[in-house]
Amino acid sequence: MRKLITFYKSLPKKHQSILAAVTLLVVVVLLLPTDDAAASRDYDDSKSNQRIDLQLDLSSDSAQRQPNTLTPVRANISASKATSEVQAPTQTETKITETSYTVESGDSLGKLFSRAGLSPRDTYDVTQLAKAKKSLIKIMPGEHILIRTNENGQFAGLTYDISKTKYLVVNKDDKGLSESVFERPVEMVEQFAGATITSNFWNAGITAGLTPAQIMNLAEIFGWNVDFALDIRKGDHFSVLYEKKYIDGEAVGNGNIIAARFSNQGESFDAIRYSDGQYYNSEGRAMKGAFLRSPVDFTRVSSNFNPRRLHPVTGNVRPHNGVDYVAPVGTPIKAAGNGRVVASTYNNLNGNYVFIKHSDTYTTKYLHLSKRRVKKGDYVKQGQIIGNLGATGRVTGAHLHYEFIVNGVHRNPRTVKLPKSEPIKASEREKFLALAKPTIARLEQQQQLRMASSQ
Ligand SMILES: [Zn+2]
Repeated sequence: MRKLITFYKSLPKKHQSILAAVTLLVVVVLLLPTDDAAASRDYDDSKSNQRIDLQLDLSSDSAQRQPNTLTPVRANISASKATSEVQAPTQTETKITETSYTVESGDSLGKLFSRAGLSPRDTYDVTQLAKAKKSLIKIMPGEHILIRTNENGQFAGLTYDISKTKYLVVNKDDKGLSESVFERPVEMVEQFAGATITSNFWNAGITAGLTPAQIMNLAEIFGWNVDFALDIRKGDHFSVLYEKKYIDGEAVGNGNIIAARFSNQGESFDAIRYSDGQYYNSEGRAMKGAFLRSPVDFTRVSSNFNPRRLHPVTGNVRPHNGVDYVAPVGTPIKAAGNGRVVASTYNNLNGNYVFIKHSDTYTTKYLHLSKRRVKKGDYVKQGQIIGNLGATGRVTGAHLHYEFIVNGVHRNPRTVKLPKSEPIKASEREKFLALAKPTIARLEQQQQLRMASSQ
C-alpha cells in the first residue's frame, strides 16, 4: 500500500487526477444498483436509513464549468450490489441548458416537448425507453419535468420525479439515449407524540398529531392487551415514538412506530419494535397474544366511550354472560384467536352464531350475526373475518354478543387472565433488551417534557 502511495505521489499532477477519477469511477460502478434492485426496493418499509449519499461529479474539470451548464446528476444510491448503465452526462465542451417545464392540463409528453422546442421524433425516442414510457405516460398537471438541451437546442436529457423518493433521468449523447431511476436518501427522524384521552382514543390521537394509519397501528399494537372498543376511559394516556421520513429536509411521511406506552385504567403497557418487525414489551415478551381483546375494530363501535351501556334487549344495564358491541350491521367480526369452528348455524335466540374452540381450555362465541363466513369444522386464524355483525335472533338492536369461556365458565374477555405471550427468541433477548432500555428511557423523557409543558 505504501509503495502504491509513493508511486501515486511520484506521478505528475495531471496523471494523479486522472488516476483518482478512474478510481472513483470504478468504485461508483461497483456501488450502483441494478435496475431491478432499484425498481423492486420498496421505499415505504422504511428500512432506508442506512444509505450513503454519493455525489457523482462526472465532469472532468468542475472548475471550468460555466454557469448554466448541466449540473452533474446527483446519484443518491444505496450501498448494495450492482452494475450500472449510468452514462457520464456530457463532455466538457458541450453547453447544456436545463429548463423546468410544468405539466399543464391536457398535456401529453408530446405537447410538453413541443413547447420545449423538441420534435415528435424526440418524444417517440424517449417513449421507447421502458422506464421513461412507464412514468412519462402518466404525467399530471402541476408536475415538473426538467428538460436539457444542447447549444443547438437539441434534446440532451430530462429529469422527472416519479415520486417523492424516486426520480427518472434520461440522457442523450453520441451513443444514444439511456435512462436510470434513482432513489433519494430518506432520513429518519425520531418523533414523539402523546396525549391524555378526554373524549375518545381517536380524537386524542388526532389531537396528538397522529395520522389515522398511526392511530390504527397503535390500536393493533396494544390490541391483545386493551379493548379499544369498550375499555378506554377518560384519563387514559399514551406516548409514542415514531419515525418521520425526510428527503432533503422535507417531511414526506411516517415510518414505523418505534415504541409506545399505553396506560389504560391505571394499567400501563409498553411496546418496543424489534428488527424482526414485531413488538415486545420491555421484558421481551411478544405483544401479540393468544387472544385479541376485542373481536370488533374500535372505530366501528358506536358506544365505545359509554361505561354504562344499555343492554340492547332489555334496555337495562344488567350483567349477562357476554359483552355487547353495538356497531352498524355488516361490521366485520374477527376471530379472537386461532381455533376450530365447532358451530356455525342459526336458532331463534342466538340468530346466526359461530362458536370457536381454541384449545381444551378456551372457547369464544359470536351471536346475532347478519352473515356467517365460516363453516363448522373450519380452522380459523386470529383476526380472520368469521362473519358480520347483525340483529338476528332475540334482539332489539344490531350488536355483537360475544362470550369468552374458560374451562366451561363464562368470563369477562376484557379482564380474564390469559396465558403469557411468547418470549422473544433466546438468541435475540440480550440484543433486544439492550435496545429496549434506552428506547423506553427516551420515551419517558419525552413524556415528562410533554407533561411539564402542558402544566
Ligand atoms: Zn349480550
